[in-house]
Amino acid sequence: MARKRTIRDADVAGRRVLVRVDFNVPLDEHGAVADDSRIRAALPTLRDLVERGARVVLMSHLGRPKGAVVPRLSLRPVAARLAELLGRPVAFAEDCVGRPAAEAVAALPEGGVLLLENLRFHPEEEKNDAAFARELASLGDLFVNDAFGAAHRAHASTVGVAAHLPAYAGLLMEREIDALSRLLEPERPFVAIVGGAKISDKIGVLRHLLGRVNRILFGGGMANTLLVALGYDLAESLVEADRVDEAKALIVEAQARGVELQFPIDLVVAEFFNPDAPAETVEVGRVPAGWRALDIGPLTVERYAAALSGARTVFWNGPMGVAEWSAFARGTEGVAAAVARHDGYTVVGGGDSIAALKRLGLDGAVDHVSTGGGASLEFLEGRELPGIAAIPDAEGASGGAEGAAPGTSGGAAAGAGGATAGGGGERRP
Ligand code: ADP
Ligand code: MG
Repeated sequence: MARKRTIRDADVAGRRVLVRVDFNVPLDEHGAVADDSRIRAALPTLRDLVERGARVVLMSHLGRPKGAVVPRLSLRPVAARLAELLGRPVAFAEDCVGRPAAEAVAALPEGGVLLLENLRFHPEEEKNDAAFARELASLGDLFVNDAFGAAHRAHASTVGVAAHLPAYAGLLMEREIDALSRLLEPERPFVAIVGGAKISDKIGVLRHLLGRVNRILFGGGMANTLLVALGYDLAESLVEADRVDEAKALIVEAQARGVELQFPIDLVVAEFFNPDAPAETVEVGRVPAGWRALDIGPLTVERYAAALSGARTVFWNGPMGVAEWSAFARGTEGVAAAVARHDGYTVVGGGDSIAALKRLGLDGAVDHVSTGGGASLEFLEGRELPGIAAIPDAEGASGGAEGAAPGTSGGAAAGAGGATAGGGGERRP
């Protein structure tokens, strides 16, 4: 993919920089930030802008308020955490548009940081409503998208604003694009490890991977559907019966392309779907009637660790079992450890896989931990993500966004004719 224009290409001193970040963090029962990884991930961009004297206006969504004001999904606690991490005050606006936002932006000094309230308190955000996008855009002179995790959504804050303001990638966005692009043109041998709950979530990326990988190792619930396609009885295991034909087609296509597929040879099975259920390890094909497979077994872990040997590129997405429950986490932990100690270029994507990696303290031991769940997978399906398409390429970029004069409110330019940078107006199903 051509290099995108980034904040390094922008003169930001004294200017209002409207930054879309992904601060969709988990909150604990007291409403405090339970995991600040996503806030930390944005720090390189924010520090750079602050150091260069920008007036930084941050916007994000949090949770799924579905267009209504839901007080427990306020971004206010995130502003507090961000202030601690940045070591400087972070102002907060009660609303992302209207007077509270405009007044807070007007009060921002050079190098100041402001966080706007949850974008999704307004239904117009997810509809990519033109008037709402124009209002957001009126808060900045330039637009920076650093929310890779939201780049697969064509929303007002990821795509709509780019019709009115010159758009740039933030440093996190750039890092994600670079890392995932390396998987699209990988150094071989390339081994993928794919797990997680459902094959239906992964079939798109699997199809695309078939053209690039040398080997795929399967685990988790999704492997069950493949095992059924191979003729095994999985008893009460999670199986997507309506995807068995697709699973068979995938196996046939892999053969035709010379991609080696590896499946679990042993499984940890449980009598109930319960963290304390009686459990046993059995050979594949020997799941007792009424039981379900909840993890890969130790022989499979050993085999998968060995299957990484010599790989120049490794991509892992999706746990090998119900890793949230310690009794069924060993397969995931074994694979995580093998990926972490592997020498080649290693990338891990997916919320649950990353959570497992973190529990083991191994997130620092891989080359790239992708912050985008759905966005990473869509990127690896070879799709152009609307939030990325809305950012012009680095050199000779003369996309529609350049037309909006910096320093104006954007209101007058008003995206005349709906021109956007690179297919911006398009909506996703
Ligand atoms: P990621 O977030 O890393 O992309 P997914 O969301 O696709 O991963 O899958 C994670 C979920 O899959 C977890 O909630 C886990 O409990 C579930 N899962 C994994 N293996 C099984 C299994 N054998 N049976 C039922 N659920 C499973
Ligand atoms: Mg998940």
